[in-house]
Amino acid sequence: MGTSKRRALVTGAGGFIGGHLVKYLQDKGYWVRGVDIKEHEFKKSSADEFLLLDLRAAGNCLTAADGIDEVYSLAANMGGIGFITFAKAEVMRDNVLINTHMLEAARLNRIKRYFYSSSACIYPTFKQTNSDVPGLKENDAYPADPDNEYGWEKLFTERLAKDYYLDFGLETRVARFHNIFGPEGTWEGGKEKAPAAVCRKIAMAKDGETIEIWGDGKQTRSFCYIDDCLEGIYRLTQSDHREPLNIGSDRLVTIDELYDMASGLAGKKIVKRYDPSKPQGVRGRNSDNTLVKKVLAWEPKVPLEEGMSRTYRWIEKQVKDKYKL
Ligand code: NAD
Repeated sequence: MGTSKRRALVTGAGGFIGGHLVKYLQDKGYWVRGVDIKEHEFKKSSADEFLLLDLRAAGNCLTAADGIDEVYSLAANMGGIGFITFAKAEVMRDNVLINTHMLEAARLNRIKRYFYSSSACIYPTFKQTNSDVPGLKENDAYPADPDNEYGWEKLFTERLAKDYYLDFGLETRVARFHNIFGPEGTWEGGKEKAPAAVCRKIAMAKDGETIEIWGDGKQTRSFCYIDDCLEGIYRLTQSDHREPLNIGSDRLVTIDELYDMASGLAGKKIVKRYDPSKPQGVRGRNSDNTLVKKVLAWEPKVPLEEGMSRTYRWIEKQVKDKYKL
């Protein structure tokens, strides 16, 4: 273990954002321990130390946080809308266990900074009923009415993180991610999110083929590219801001537009067939970035077209390698 380097723990280092964050922190000069219940799906982790641990168990959280200065807490049992809609108890139970034990382990290990990855899913359903929604401001969170159990758990842990500061002085920082996407994320199997699912469907389709779209295609979201997200995580963790902050893009697009973008990148024409019986989540969701711009001088830099292009090329390669298409 390096002697003078700051030591960071990244939980969920075998996952999409955590996997990228390990490298980002190393580039900043950190010694990094990665922890996950599984190896990274797409690469050998670059972490200085990588431990396979189930963080639902308190003892494993203590092992993970031992000798660490800063914790970046990204481990979660999660997935896209298709997963979180049908695994309610599992999502709530696993994530409450992981986050409760991890915060307590951080307190016992006298961690200096604790970053927690919350989600735009904490925002109330009643503020997200139209496609053309105004951006969600941080103080829109209450009165609380998240759309699903995943969001309720995130809200619980946001509060717990704040309570650990109020009661014990643990310096916690909370980001609310809005649809982070990019290469090296889950792209098939049911846990993938919309941009990855869209890229996979297009990559697998033949020119002129019909593609099934969940919902009517008019539901809206904003999407933030991974590199911008990493910068936001780091700035927030180093800042003095102790309240939750949005980390997301404020450019609203329909799911239809996302399909059009990916098919344009692929140079394929597709026919869309809508399936309204499939889960589609809230009708519209966007980020209001007024506060984050002010507090961190941060806003996304990578345009959606550029991020989608990088993501599409990566997923296209995965599809070709796996299915020999
Ligand atoms: P991901 O699923 O790729 O990564 C999460 C990682 O946590 C996985 O590798 C998983 O194996 C690990 N994990 C699950 N259970 C564990 C356990 N018991 N012990 C140890 N590790 C365990 O997801 P991601 O997209 O990288 O998301 C990272 C964090 O950001 C999560 O907390 C997620 O809820 C949050 N978030 C992500 C987005 C997004 O758009 N990607 C949006 C909002 C919030």
